[in-house]
Amino acid sequence: MHFETRCVHGGVHKDQQYNSVTTPIYPSSTFSWSDTTTNSGYDYTRSGNPTRKALEENLTALEGGAGCAATSSGMSAIHCAMALFSPGDHIIVPVDVYGGTFRLFDRFLSEKGLVFSFVDMTDHKAVADAVTPSTKCLWIETPSNPLLKVVDIRAMVAIAKSCGAITICDNTFLSPYLQRPLELGVDLVVHSTTKFLNGHSDVVGGCVVSKSEEHASRIAWLCNALGLACSPFDAWLVLRGVKTLGCRMEAQQASAMKIAQFLAQHPRIRHVYYPGLESHPQHATAVSQQSGFGAILSFEVNGDRSLAEQVCVKTRLFDMAISVGGIESLISFPTTMSHASMSPEARAAAGITESLVRMSVGLEHVNDLIADLEQAL
Ligand SMILES: *Cc1c(COP(=O)(O)O)cnc(C)c1O
Repeated sequence: MHFETRCVHGGVHKDQQYNSVTTPIYPSSTFSWSDTTTNSGYDYTRSGNPTRKALEENLTALEGGAGCAATSSGMSAIHCAMALFSPGDHIIVPVDVYGGTFRLFDRFLSEKGLVFSFVDMTDHKAVADAVTPSTKCLWIETPSNPLLKVVDIRAMVAIAKSCGAITICDNTFLSPYLQRPLELGVDLVVHSTTKFLNGHSDVVGGCVVSKSEEHASRIAWLCNALGLACSPFDAWLVLRGVKTLGCRMEAQQASAMKIAQFLAQHPRIRHVYYPGLESHPQHATAVSQQSGFGAILSFEVNGDRSLAEQVCVKTRLFDMAISVGGIESLISFPTTMSHASMSPEARAAAGITESLVRMSVGLEHVNDLIADLEQAL
């Protein structure tokens, strides 16, 4: 089946009693047994739930994996995946990894004995040089946040294979509609379903999709043991949102491209970061591994911090808010918002300046969005 068909039909459990067309919500925390050894396949909702199962089947089909754990947030998905590792294990991570991931790795998991190297993952030699005998994982996030650097997934998989490490890819920014890392040799995909998969800014959720049966069953075990699973209601909302993923991504990325082109020629803009522009340094890599360029872009204003902050404040249609991937356009100032938990030094090392603004393009008419940016600039 084609991708859009899998979005609509994947994991839809038709109820037997009333023949509802959509999957019912089963909020029940527990399920009764008919005798001491027999239940319906579910016993307790932390461990498994029919509504959550429907979402997990859908996301497994979209990413092309062997199994999925739907979690209570993107961070709980990342935490779940990191629970595969033990003290002493070394993990290579992009220097401009998502701020919350950076905080979890640098301030929490490193205290528990995991060892991290933060490198520029567009520099393949730097990644190969960072490998040690303890390297167990290459963590990939592409395109990166907020500078939209594109990491060559196939090249990272090759380096990981050569040292016996696994690869995990945070695929939040593109969604499986535009990029399917498991098909490129990656072992696990994580998502913040809060973003494009749900798409309506009304759920915080996440998922871990595994390529192999072995990883899928270990991740399911960890998700239950650590208590990371999402609620049935949240699973139902994401399952509802995902049905329109294909058409949302198409419309939102078409607008993002037009906005990137508008900004690129504007005299008050110094630089636009969008992989769809041919001037983007990894445009060719993006073309080779993505089927579109996504709906997130960032730009540097031709001026200092006050001009960047002014653009964020003066736009009217773009809500000034953290997050991406919803149907409403958002604008944000990474220095004080999404990347505030990084130290100024870490931000500078990652190239996140005080002139930088990030936006996520929604479903409004693109001409209205461009007019809004024009007046704010
Ligand atoms: C939002 C986000 C996360 C964290 O997800 P939450 O749902 O907020 O916990 C992780 N990675 C990326 C790339 C994100 O954008």
